[in-house]
Amino acid sequence: MPTLQKIRLAMSICGLIVSTSCLAQTQASQAMQDLQTLASDRMQGREIGSAGSALARDYLLKRIVDLGLKPCGASYVQDFPVSKLGQTTQGKNILACQFSEQNSAKKFLVVSAHYDHLGIKNDKIYFGADDNASGVAGVLAVAQSLRGKVTKHNIVYAFFDGEERGLLGAHAFVKQAWIAPKDITANINFDMIARGDKNELFASGTYQNPSLKPILQELNGTQGIKLSFDHDRPEQGSNDWTSQSDHYAFFKAGIPHLYFGVEDHADYHKPTDSAEKVNPKFFDGAIEIVQKAVQLIDQKFTRKD
Ligand SMILES: [Zn+2]
Repeated sequence: MPTLQKIRLAMSICGLIVSTSCLAQTQASQAMQDLQTLASDRMQGREIGSAGSALARDYLLKRIVDLGLKPCGASYVQDFPVSKLGQTTQGKNILACQFSEQNSAKKFLVVSAHYDHLGIKNDKIYFGADDNASGVAGVLAVAQSLRGKVTKHNIVYAFFDGEERGLLGAHAFVKQAWIAPKDITANINFDMIARGDKNELFASGTYQNPSLKPILQELNGTQGIKLSFDHDRPEQGSNDWTSQSDHYAFFKAGIPHLYFGVEDHADYHKPTDSAEKVNPKFFDGAIEIVQKAVQLIDQKFTRKD
């Protein structure tokens, strides 16, 4: 069944029977629709500075306006310079905010995912469904779950550009930030959350911030998914993921971070990382975990320094 029809069916059933599982089902369908759109032929692999990247931004801007999110500053778009093929072009982060009315301390959580991927190489589109249309869909799903809720923090929903070129957007965000690093309670970053080939999702960063672990422990077993706190110890070498995605820019600035992702799979950084390879059941569970994780961190986590 086409996805749109599935959503309509879920919504019509949910119209008759109002339940949390109905609500979850509708949201999961929306997350899958976001993933499929971003990983479609039209978006051409979303390489920084490309026409496909601009289409992805158009889609994201429509989604964040529909979710009622505000620009964090004058604009939703944060430009930063990038040299590409000997020329300077503009990388473009998208930043959207949910401001807390109860937040006298003006503290922020930054919930992030990179929307760029590898583009087209040798006439093949690198769709980047898991890497990282899935994480972007996760950030949008978190925004949906917190819509209209009272939060302790201001929340920045950050869609970073240029991750595949060396975490460029995240470094630009931390460097140019209109928020002082000391006012960011934590960065929660999603990169590859849809391919649970072993039904296991990893949370990396509790080694550096041990107080996060007891807060998040209750999420282990959500929809049968094993949530493992791992891949963050220096002695693990290349299996230490601290420097492997955008959260590293925050870590380097002394900001607590937590990264959610799966282990590399056979389609990692290949043209075959496509939407039909995604495991919908795992993706649904991972979305529930990241939604709840952000809510728990907002309510329970405080920086020690
Ligand atoms: Zn990635």
